[in-house]
Amino acid sequence: MTTQPEPSGRALLVGVLAVQGDVREHVAALERCGATVRRVRRPEELDGLDGLVVPGGESTTIDRLSRIFGLHEPVRALVAGGLPVYGSCAGMIQLADRILDGHAEQQTFGGIDMTVRRNAFGRQVDSFEADLVVPALREPQRPFPAVFIRAPLVEEHSPGVEVVARVGEAVVAVRQGNLLATSFHPEVSGDDRVHQLFLDLCREHRGAAAEQVPTAS
Ligand code: GLN
Repeated sequence: MTTQPEPSGRALLVGVLAVQGDVREHVAALERCGATVRRVRRPEELDGLDGLVVPGGESTTIDRLSRIFGLHEPVRALVAGGLPVYGSCAGMIQLADRILDGHAEQQTFGGIDMTVRRNAFGRQVDSFEADLVVPALREPQRPFPAVFIRAPLVEEHSPGVEVVARVGEAVVAVRQGNLLATSFHPEVSGDDRVHQLFLDLCREHRGAAAEQVPTAS
């Protein structure tokens, strides 16, 4: 995979929420795509990001630690402010406005108007792989090798949520505005097209933000 230089000259700066989960795999995928990556454990590490990734792992733990580290409210504010955020698996759960089969006290960052059921594929099929047709990706005719690990499912969503991929009838990838979520783990597949799609969102967002800020003379 060749790394393309950013048109503006500065690499995109993308944060990976690094309280729990498969942080390292997301960092590696984003770096392969040419981004500069910052692991985020403290609120001030959210400053100046072009985008944020919420990794897979255990959503109850990511939620609990995010609140303990003071990241919950700042991340919610960034989501509300339009920062591109990508959540995979547990990260998808964290971007859902509503969850089913969560812990009683579990909270999410929210942002995507959908209901997600945790561990929806059941214990019989804890993990599986599926080749998905994902028209939004580069080279859409090439199936995406999706890895599902105790994956959540989108049970219901508003019309404003775009379905990006399905397994059969089941919705497993969505986009709403600058928020992208997949119930699978592209960071372990070696295929970086989902991360590239997310970086495209980050690039567009940075371009739009730059147009709004007059440069000081
Ligand atoms: N089942 C996990 C949860 O609810 C998600 C699994 C994953 O991220 N691989 O957080």
